[in-house]
Amino acid sequence: MARQKLGQHFLASSKILERIATAACGDGTDFVLEIGPGRGALTERLLQKTERLSAIELDAELALFLRQRWADEPKLRVVDGNALDADWSSFGEGVLAGNLPYYVASAIITSYVLAPGKLRHGVFLIQKEVAERIAAAPGGREYGYLSVVCQFFADVKMLFSVPPGAFQPPPKVDSAVIRVTPRRDVPPVDQAGFIKFVSVCFQHKRKTLRNNLSAWASLELVDSIPGMERRAEQLTPADFLELFGKFPAKPEPADEEPE
Ligand code: SAM
Repeated sequence: MARQKLGQHFLASSKILERIATAACGDGTDFVLEIGPGRGALTERLLQKTERLSAIELDAELALFLRQRWADEPKLRVVDGNALDADWSSFGEGVLAGNLPYYVASAIITSYVLAPGKLRHGVFLIQKEVAERIAAAPGGREYGYLSVVCQFFADVKMLFSVPPGAFQPPPKVDSAVIRVTPRRDVPPVDQAGFIKFVSVCFQHKRKTLRNNLSAWASLELVDSIPGMERRAEQLTPADFLELFGKFPAKPEPADEEPE
């Protein structure tokens, strides 16, 4: 019985499983960290393409099932745990992959791009709408906080769409596979300050930067900076960095979530 509150939609299409495993591992890799292995549909494909695989599963029953299923497989290590608590830097060189539980997909991807360790890319099956937000270009409706943070710290590529019928049980929404490759050339920046700044810029999406940034600095300072009549959605990730550099002080964190 699938636990829908844990986002349990199991992949049943062998063609799609193979495409995800190939997108993650190429012809082969030393190590894969899989998130949410479930009953092991993707794990099975990944095991064919890697020397070692660790898989983090929150559902203890499924973790036990996997250990029993692969009792004789020395390559596999099943970790009982929450991927939201993962310290990506504690893993060796390799890749990250997963048919992610949709309720935590953006939190998992954000934590990965901010501190990827030696995991050189992540290939994720996620809700299509979230994939589109992550990959969105400036100016569009989908472009927002998630796009800027992911694209500032990583290269993002939409790979392919996956229909609900590829899962058992089928989710209510379309899905997509995305590859996220953390950039090694990220400009030096106060990371926590920068992502807070971006979230404040998008706090009220339809308002101008001037309006949103009045919660970040004095209006006097805000008004001394050109371009404040624009809206956050018009700025590229590099524009955000430039703008952030114009504000010397970091205020207290705001409480509200961005729209
Ligand atoms: N990989 C399997 C497949 O493709 O058939 C299952 C994918 S299912 C969409 C997501 C899996 O993630 C489930 O097995 C669920 O129990 C697990 N999960 C849910 N929340 C999790 C979390 N916070 N950390 C780790 N695993 C989680």
